[in-house]
Amino acid sequence: MGNHSLPQAKNFIERTLRKAVDPDPSRSQIDEMKLHFKWSCAYCGRDLKTAERKSHVDHLDAVGHRNHISNRVLSCDICNGDEKREQNWEQFLGMKCGSDADLRRERSQRIIDWQVKCGNPQAIDKEVAEQVKQSVYDCCAMFEEHYKRLRSMRKISNPETPKL
Ligand SMILES: [Zn+2]
Repeated sequence: MGNHSLPQAKNFIERTLRKAVDPDPSRSQIDEMKLHFKWSCAYCGRDLKTAERKSHVDHLDAVGHRNHISNRVLSCDICNGDEKREQNWEQFLGMKCGSDADLRRERSQRIIDWQVKCGNPQAIDKEVAEQVKQSVYDCCAMFEEHYKRLRSMRKISNPETPKL
């Protein structure tokens, strides 16, 4: 909490409002994804069957950040959490496979097959995206205003403890 609570709350508001128009995949879609990737990391191939807690549902395209299942692949905690970040997935995959061109082709094809299988999601309507942005802005501004107002009341209702 502490100083980070306000930015964290704003981040949460943004993600929640975005999910109203771009929902997360369902549990059964995620199960199907795990099956497609044979319970191993789509990038490094690490076996995740017995390491459930280390398996993540990565965003392939992290910049566009669509939550749709076609933009999600099974990934280990290392690839998802520490290494890939905002990198383009094809570039990242190349890095993970090193000079093994066959391996790279195979993993890349598995990802492309997954995207094809899930169907191309329609891009979020520009007007809807604009509405989301506006809603995020309005909610965050209002949230911050209330937060600051209540914070200022803290000084009034909680005067400093007099020194004994
Ligand atoms: Zn990995």
